[in-house]
Amino acid sequence: MNDAAFDVVVVGAGPAGLGAACAAAESGSSVGVLDDTPWLGGQIWRGEETQPANREARRWLMRLRNSGATLLRGTSVVAAPGPGLLLAEHNLRPCRVRWQRLILATGARELFLPFPGWTLPGVMGPGGLLALAKHGWPVSGRRVLLAGSGPLLPAVAESLRRHGARVVGIAEQAPWRQVMAFGLALRAHHKLWQGIRLKLRLLGVPYRCGTWPVRAEGDDQVRRVTLTDSRRTWRQECDLFACGFGLVPNVELPLALGCELVSGFVRVDSRQATTVPHVYAAGEPTGIAGADSALVQGLVAGYAAAGQTLKAEGLFAQRDAGYRFRAALARAFALRPELKTLAADDTLLCRCEDVTLGQARQFANWRDAKLQSRCGMGTCQGRVCGAAAKVILGWEPESVRPPILPALVGSLISQPRPEQPSLAPDGGKPCLPAAASEQTKSGAKLYAGA
Ligand SMILES: Cc1cc2nc3c(=O)[nH]c(=O)nc-3n(C[C@H](O)[C@H](O)[C@H](O)COP(=O)(O)OP(=O)(O)OC[C@H]3O[C@@H](n4cnc5c(N)ncnc54)[C@H](O)[C@@H]3O)c2cc1C
Repeated sequence: MNDAAFDVVVVGAGPAGLGAACAAAESGSSVGVLDDTPWLGGQIWRGEETQPANREARRWLMRLRNSGATLLRGTSVVAAPGPGLLLAEHNLRPCRVRWQRLILATGARELFLPFPGWTLPGVMGPGGLLALAKHGWPVSGRRVLLAGSGPLLPAVAESLRRHGARVVGIAEQAPWRQVMAFGLALRAHHKLWQGIRLKLRLLGVPYRCGTWPVRAEGDDQVRRVTLTDSRRTWRQECDLFACGFGLVPNVELPLALGCELVSGFVRVDSRQATTVPHVYAAGEPTGIAGADSALVQGLVAGYAAAGQTLKAEGLFAQRDAGYRFRAALARAFALRPELKTLAADDTLLCRCEDVTLGQARQFANWRDAKLQSRCGMGTCQGRVCGAAAKVILGWEPESVRPPILPALVGSLISQPRPEQPSLAPDGGKPCLPAAASEQTKSGAKLYAGA
């Protein structure tokens, strides 16, 4: 098995991870950045390395390259088997990564709430659809309807339009007055111009608040969606239906490490330190607030982990402004109770294991449902249905077990057994095979992705 060891290990190379890695590496720590994708930049900046379009992304990617951090792309952290140790998979092979300080910047995923027809081909998350389009999946000329909640909907609509899609409408479940209040609050967060620019680029696209999907219909793919605003119900023809009700934090790894949560997010102190010694968290796992906030939190965590307390403190005011934006976002796009009743008893809740909502309802809690119906035991390991069951049935997952992401059995059995001596971090040099690495001008190593 390959081993690597660093002073600071950052899991996730989105904005939070980039900020954290730059701050820690520029402060003189040896830093390893792991991401399960082959690219840097996380969800928002995927593809920016190969087709740069965003000036800020370019600036951060360049800063990271010059920072001296070691990048381990295509490397999924699948377990945390002992103190100071992560088990990861790279190119389908296990590797151990040892840390003295760990920064969790694992981001978030989309929240899907089931409704009749939600498993039809052509129904997907807005972020997922945009990811496909960015990787070359053809959306040009196709009629796309977006629904769900949050500022990601117009942002994705605008990007899809640039990819040639015909956006036929956006259905936002939050009521007008809440969305208007959020629009006005953008001024206080210096994002008003961003909002206006987006609005102008979406001229001609109907944006309906207080509107949500009731069902999707089609044959071999989605053809139309029924929408409602509670007073009336109508149908909208489309070729693709992008529906997501906001984001769910990826807290599986923090939980596996024993980090405490508060209201579903990782509890952190002013230095982004979690309740587990030497473990920090930044970005969406600590609250949903967008890329700017994730970047600043990452910087604070990176400086704090590298012992640069004054530099971290210098960013507190900027970081706390992000917290206010986060609160405004949560208030404006709170989910309406009607969404809990979209799914019928025969609607699939767990699409991996074909468990309907009616079948799941027979059990008292998530654990019972898992044990007796296999709900949440499939490929996504409850990432989709677990989050939906939490909203619809109020079930909380009780524990997290490895693997955190799908992994080969061979990788899992390579975990050290409890009786083996503890693998204390030694801060030594990474020892992944030289053939898998390339040298950057700063001396940073880049491990090729899958
Ligand atoms: C599907 C999706 C699409 C989005 N698209 C946009 C968009 O187009 N525009 C926009 O403004 N905002 C978008 N967002 C929101 C945006 O991601 C956030 O606002 C912000 O960028 C979050 O930054 P982050 O660093 O906290 O997380 P992310 O950018 O999500 O970065 C987290 C990274 O951690 C990696 N990771 C997670 N777990 C592991 C693990 N166990 N092992 C290794 N790596 C791991 C992930 O692959 C990811 O690259 C999107 C969100 C999602 C979920």
